[in-house]
Amino acid sequence: MTQHLSPPATGCRSTPILKERGQREVFCGLTGIIWLHRKMQDAFFLVVGSRTCAHLLQSAAGVMIFAEPRFATAILEESDLAGLNDAHAELDRTVTELLARRPDIRQLFLVGSCPSEVIKLDLGRAAERLTMQHAPKVRVLNYSGSGIETTFTEGEDACLASMVPVLPKTDARELLVVGALPDVVEDQMLALLDGLGIGPVRLLPARHIDTETAVGPNTVFALVQPFLGETHAALVRRGATHLAAPFPFGDEGTTAWLAAIAREFGVSDETFRAVTEAPRRRARQAIAQASETLNGKSVFFFPDSQLEIPLARFLARECGMTPIEVGSPYIHDALHGPDLDLLPSGPTISEGQDVDKQLDRCRAARPDLTICGLGLANPLEAEGLSTKWAIELVFTPVHFYEQAGDLAGLFARPLKRRAVLEAAV
Ligand code: SF4
Repeated sequence: MTQHLSPPATGCRSTPILKERGQREVFCGLTGIIWLHRKMQDAFFLVVGSRTCAHLLQSAAGVMIFAEPRFATAILEESDLAGLNDAHAELDRTVTELLARRPDIRQLFLVGSCPSEVIKLDLGRAAERLTMQHAPKVRVLNYSGSGIETTFTEGEDACLASMVPVLPKTDARELLVVGALPDVVEDQMLALLDGLGIGPVRLLPARHIDTETAVGPNTVFALVQPFLGETHAALVRRGATHLAAPFPFGDEGTTAWLAAIAREFGVSDETFRAVTEAPRRRARQAIAQASETLNGKSVFFFPDSQLEIPLARFLARECGMTPIEVGSPYIHDALHGPDLDLLPSGPTISEGQDVDKQLDRCRAARPDLTICGLGLANPLEAEGLSTKWAIELVFTPVHFYEQAGDLAGLFARPLKRRAVLEAAV
């Protein structure tokens, strides 16, 4: 199986990484609930937190007050924080009422927050106790979405990692695809894998708890999101084997990702070409159109979503952009190495953040486009720099061939808007 890719003469895998451990400007891991609750249709996320946590979720998700959403916040009042109440008893009562009112819930996640961690509320113990009370109908798990410990995409990682130990065991040789995708994109991916003759394909997270997702020594897994370091480690602990590959962004990333799976499952070159040729052509055409604005422009990534390295690879190789700095909250060689191999050498690769120093580097470089969090975007725009909110890249369908043009278009939009504004002045 040929990979259909030619790596650059020198990639970035051996580039020394600038490690920074200063102040960070990122959202917390509770944010992941916004896409996870849509994906897992029989799950409920109960944040054990403060009014601030509730407010973050409500405003980020734009929930209508009449909707029965699949998440809520059990608010810790001041008396809870002062240790005057038995928080475990309160939590048990809240969960019992919730499950009585919502018989559709099959998986309940107790999600830790900064306040629950400050008072050292042991949600692991609570999850075990509540599982015993409500099994077999409901499975109760816990993870932390606290801003103290996580960046915003780590919430999904922590959630999926909490599920791995309770997945049933299997000895079947199966492909497990790991990472939440919008349903429409997931269906496109499954159709491609089906065309290659690969199946059954298991998914984590699955849309329903009863779906046959299991793991064992013959499981091979492919990640679709580059922020799943903990989940990767948990699956390896269960004996599964990771298929390292570039992430499926753009034509090249998607082709390389599929090729790694096809090689593993012995798919012929002929079948691979027959399945991928038409969608590749469509992707290339769509990218060419959208990237007219991007070609020859420079880009600077602040660390935010952990999507930075594969996206920089896509922008450099398929859209003609020049990355100046590619910052990522964490860099795992096992996950990001294949994308670093393909990213042409040149940019500073930085891990972690010292926001003031990084802002200085960005201002000195004056990139054509800066990818950053919401908090940095407005000040940088005011200084005349074009920005793209990193969080949009997580909320928008951007994986695989059919979204490749939209992905390039997302980066082109701020540049077009600035050009229009400048022309109007
Ligand atoms: S978990 Fe922490 S950072 Fe996130 S909303 Fe709650 S208090 Fe804020």
